[in-house]
Amino acid sequence: MMQTIVSLCKRRGFVFQSSEIYGGLKSAYDYGPLGVELKRNLMNAWWRDMVHRRENIVGLDASIIMHSKVWEASGHLAGFSDPLVDCKVCKERFRADKAPRREPGSPAPIVLPDKGVAKAMLEILPARFGVELERKGKTLHGATVGARGYVCPVCGSPFLSDERQFNLMFKTSIGPVSPVDTLAQAIERGELHNMEGRDLRRAIEDRLNDGAVYLRPETAQSMFVQFLNVLNAMSMKLPFGIAQMGRSFRNEITVEHFIFRSCEFEQMEMEFFCEPGSDEEWTTYWRDERMLWWKKFSNHPERFRYRPHEKSELAHYARACFDIEYEYPWGWGELEGIANRTDYDLRKHSAASGQKLEYFDPVHKKKITPYVIEPAAGATRGMLVYLLDAYEEEKLESGDTRVVMRFHPELAPIKVAVLPLVKKNGMPEKARTVVNAFFERGINARYDEQHAIGRRYRRHDEIGTPFCLTIDGETLENDTITIRDRDTMKQRRISIGEAVAEVEALLQSS
Ligand code: ATP
Repeated sequence: MMQTIVSLCKRRGFVFQSSEIYGGLKSAYDYGPLGVELKRNLMNAWWRDMVHRRENIVGLDASIIMHSKVWEASGHLAGFSDPLVDCKVCKERFRADKAPRREPGSPAPIVLPDKGVAKAMLEILPARFGVELERKGKTLHGATVGARGYVCPVCGSPFLSDERQFNLMFKTSIGPVSPVDTLAQAIERGELHNMEGRDLRRAIEDRLNDGAVYLRPETAQSMFVQFLNVLNAMSMKLPFGIAQMGRSFRNEITVEHFIFRSCEFEQMEMEFFCEPGSDEEWTTYWRDERMLWWKKFSNHPERFRYRPHEKSELAHYARACFDIEYEYPWGWGELEGIANRTDYDLRKHSAASGQKLEYFDPVHKKKITPYVIEPAAGATRGMLVYLLDAYEEEKLESGDTRVVMRFHPELAPIKVAVLPLVKKNGMPEKARTVVNAFFERGINARYDEQHAIGRRYRRHDEIGTPFCLTIDGETLENDTITIRDRDTMKQRRISIGEAVAEVEALLQSS
């Protein structure tokens, strides 16, 4: 299924591999002519429903590079890292928190690529790890799951390295002095002389940190950092929210499943500040609102579910967290997280900056530090969800199969295609006046005259265009055109003068 979506995305101009002509940059993607429309439509719908439609939520568009102190205070510099583990059998490096969970002490069969490798491993592993193993085909039996309760995701082995932390933030430097010059000067002056091991590493890191800045790994922190400015500028009253969408960057160890996990991606996040004590109610409210929102644009609402985080999974400051998950072709996975972050972030930034990030409660006449509920969604991951959700291979009565992307009309890259039946007899001119009438109303229409009409219908089915309008011989006689519905493929005639109003009404009613 993923392969089908990936190739449709390339063929039809939704998503391309970054820098493809140079062999491609793994984990980076470019959004093509239709992808950029789909992504924008999704993000605009989020902005409209989260910001414009709500009196108590306002927007923000912060810089991607912020003061390094922001990341120090938020804990990202120290803690924004994934615990990484190496498998001692197959050498796979993986994230401990994503590894398959198994009951400690239960059997851990090790599945190797073939019998030959299994035989070779049988010679080595028992002595190395002090276990008795038995080979059946390419599988070694006899090992058991260790106390950490997980095994290698590739071969299933419980023989693993310690967990190591790895920082996910992309680092660069700002200012005229290159940190490499600073380091070179330090070496020249002999400052690193006689140093070795950890001390040497730390000394080099200190020099390289001169002017270090980071690409933000989430959009959230700027909403806390700008809390007071927004509060004062907009005279906000609790409860209120600050919303932001935009690029985030994470040096992910495992990039996987196309645009599901990439190093550069887009997020849609909102920090909702509320009175302590009302936080549980608001967590439930946002959990439900966000689920309804995702389902609203979906053909398969049953593919969405909640997953409450177990106590052991929760960040130490978070009171509760729910993931909204989608059933991807490889299984259930996260799409959005809704977390009750308490007053942790505001307090952290208050302490680190010396600025009191508080709210004056006019009823109780005292200052409080609000609690925060954070619905944090991936926009590019959301786009993948709707690409998967929309895809259908439909068997037709004729025996043919058509591929149709059943995008919700609000998300569809092109809302209406206007097709002259032939490229003559004044049909193109007529079609262009219809297209222009759509542009006047702010509706993204597309004039399309290439190939036979049947192929054009199929093309627009495949890119999810909800309506096709065709100008034919009859149009020239009586000013009527046909309107074809993508989902039912039914056609009917309407008057050309009513085309815009008709399509507008259909788009709004869906
Ligand atoms: P995961 O467990 O999948 O790594 P996360 O819990 O680290 O995700 P958050 O920090 O909660 O993710 O980010 C909020 C949302 O941002 C996620 O639900 C996801 O939709 C999106 N997101 C996070 N990391 C990536 C990524 N590398 N690529 C694409 N989207 C991402």
